[in-house]
Amino acid sequence: MYLRYSAILIMSLLSANLIPVFGDDYIPPTKQEQDLYKKLLTEFEKLDVQKRDVSDVLGTFEKPLVISFPCDSTDVNELVVSVIKTKLARFSEDPYHEGGVITGGTYTWKCTVTTSDGKITINCDNELKINSDFLMQDGERDPRIKKVENQIVIYHELLHGQLMIGAIKSSEEWRNDTCNKPPDGKIDYSYSDKTHKVINPLQQEFAAQLIEQTGGKMLVKEITVEETNDGAFTTKVGSLNDFPQFIKNGIRVSLRGTNLINTEFTSHDSDIFLSGNLANKTESGIAWLYIFGTAEEKQSISEQPAETKIHIPDWVKKNTSWWVDGTLSSTDFLKGIRYLVQQGIMSVPQIAKHQGIDKVPDWVKQNAAWWSEGKIDDKTFVTGIQYLISVGIISV
Ligand SMILES: [Zn+2]
Repeated sequence: MYLRYSAILIMSLLSANLIPVFGDDYIPPTKQEQDLYKKLLTEFEKLDVQKRDVSDVLGTFEKPLVISFPCDSTDVNELVVSVIKTKLARFSEDPYHEGGVITGGTYTWKCTVTTSDGKITINCDNELKINSDFLMQDGERDPRIKKVENQIVIYHELLHGQLMIGAIKSSEEWRNDTCNKPPDGKIDYSYSDKTHKVINPLQQEFAAQLIEQTGGKMLVKEITVEETNDGAFTTKVGSLNDFPQFIKNGIRVSLRGTNLINTEFTSHDSDIFLSGNLANKTESGIAWLYIFGTAEEKQSISEQPAETKIHIPDWVKKNTSWWVDGTLSSTDFLKGIRYLVQQGIMSVPQIAKHQGIDKVPDWVKQNAAWWSEGKIDDKTFVTGIQYLISVGIISV
């Protein structure tokens, strides 16, 4: 049993910039951003998870969504008309903020409001930006987590659009407030959830499902201002014993968080501790821990014998020389080898079985001959046997 903590990268999925001023500052997305968005959206639409329906906001990429409703006769205004469009725009923000906080994307409400003859028209030309450099970077990050995170970014940003559309469509409070705006009054865009009060729990639920589908577990830990010492904290986030299914091959813990900097994992006995600082000392931080078993992809035929202590009983060598000189049939020889594998003396490679090979290749027999004569070592001999298993000649 061993622990491996992956490199820690803090990602802030924040940023709903609310700029209720229309500017002619649209910059089209790069080809890379366009292609990436298309790919991520295709994946997003195929997901089999429970999530908030974001089809309204997705529709605004295709054609303007028009929502109009009459006000009460006693209201200041008579009619409210909203026209909402969204387009992909170039990610412009310097992705590296203070403390290494990185933004995965932004959804910006950009609306102009005009009032005439009791009619309020809210014309929104919204922009979605995705940080393609960040979303596409490989680094040392686990591809399983990477894929999930990119979907989280997409969902998160779409929610900034969807939640506001939801209010325009059906919030009595928003509708009443808007119907009573004086001509110079400010429209309330807070439903787009800049503070993530609604988005955070939705996003957590979404992420937990995706992480589980990928074979891991997600833990969420909130770090409140009170439990920090001027922003600094050390807190127990879990125990290795909570994840017996991962212990055999090692546990890998990755952290994503909001409002956290200088984070570091330590372990004491079987407890896992997280320490760090709140970036903004007056707000709580959230740590999401993705817990996976260490991937087994590192084991392969060529590497495995080196890691395995091999003790081959003497009778195997005798059998092998008989097989090589024809005294023993291949079937009986293979039976013996199968026994060896089943007893755990030889390890089985974790690779896909190939089909279509039904005969021991000559090179394996040649290896076996050399081995029985002491010309090659046990490790090389085992490589040949493992090949036989991998192609299905020996089934174990
Ligand atoms: Zn956000």
